[in-house]
Amino acid sequence: MRTSYSALETFRQCPQKYKFQQIEKIKTPKSKEAIFGTLVHSGLRYLFSRDPLYPSLDEVIAHFGASWSSVEIAEITEEEKTAYLTQGESLLRRFYAKNQPWNFNVLDLESRFEIIVEDPKTGTMHTLAGIMDRIDKPDDAHYEIIDYKTSRKMKSQDALDTDFQLSLYHLALIKRWPHINPNALSLSLYYVKHNEKLTTTRTIVQTEETKQHVLETIRDIEIRTFSNDFPPQPSALCDWCGYKAMCPAWKFLFLKSETRNLKRENIEHITKEFFALKKNNQETTKRLAELQTDIKAYMDQEGITRIFGEGGVISKTVQERYSYDYEKIRSALEAHNRLDVWNALLTPDDKKLKTMLPTLPSPLKEQVLEARSIAKKFEVLSATIKKASNPFS
Ligand code: SF4
Repeated sequence: MRTSYSALETFRQCPQKYKFQQIEKIKTPKSKEAIFGTLVHSGLRYLFSRDPLYPSLDEVIAHFGASWSSVEIAEITEEEKTAYLTQGESLLRRFYAKNQPWNFNVLDLESRFEIIVEDPKTGTMHTLAGIMDRIDKPDDAHYEIIDYKTSRKMKSQDALDTDFQLSLYHLALIKRWPHINPNALSLSLYYVKHNEKLTTTRTIVQTEETKQHVLETIRDIEIRTFSNDFPPQPSALCDWCGYKAMCPAWKFLFLKSETRNLKRENIEHITKEFFALKKNNQETTKRLAELQTDIKAYMDQEGITRIFGEGGVISKTVQERYSYDYEKIRSALEAHNRLDVWNALLTPDDKKLKTMLPTLPSPLKEQVLEARSIAKKFEVLSATIKKASNPFS
């Protein structure tokens, strides 16, 4: 399989989005924020390009301004376009002041890579492609991969230390230049809106784990491709997803009123009744619990176990649950030569296995996962009762 960091990340974020993007190849218009990010990246590449001299700050600003003015952006107002231009110029100015290009030994810009990873379980070769924004060699012994981010939110150091994208870049550079000491390679995310660089490293053990993680994700994609099983995974990121209007998890909200037919009208009534009953159910359950408490208190007070009412009889019974000392039971069964009973007790239990799974070490966990197959597939409806206004009204 040929894939990339962004494709694997998309799959991890939402299998349905992966299907739209990577399998069905449905193109969506780029958002203004994404276009802004691309042009800032282009400005930063230009800033470090030497021909034969590095560009001056004015040239960098002019380069960004020219590309921003010429780009076509859907649904953007003149005010927004000017605000983005001002923001881009400002962050490039601040970046330039802190990162004068002649102070850095830049080895490569927008460096394309392709790594071949072999899956030892299947013998299949996979190609992983990507682009690293910048590779520096600060001194003879060290290398640094820098990825620019135009997002406002900065990752925590903990998140950075396990960041999949940086782990992948580490793997790519070690494969490209095997002579590099993995510990002498720094990995940085440069948040240009804050003019802040966050740095981390990876060990060779972590690099191996990244490889395993890549292979697990690829195997998962292959299995899902075979069964065409790419469920939507709604999250806060859906608001930035270009497929929202066609996504099964959101499409209902986008159905236009002129396409409303009898079915649509019906489903609105059904949904309304569903929520009314669901709410009733919740209130009934709550009230039943309150009544039970009062009834039990009355029975205790009067020392009685039954109450006769118009609707029937309420009885109080004592139920006991036991726990067993399995060590003693095993010894007793052994003493009576009845280990067949013991073996029958040790019936495999799917629920227990599922609970234990996260605690198992690799590769045992993967072996257990490989031994599972879908026995039954069913659809479940879950409902969230909306407290605020009705979206359909
Ligand atoms: S809208 Fe959300 S759930 Fe639907 S494809 Fe996009 S990310 Fe996935």
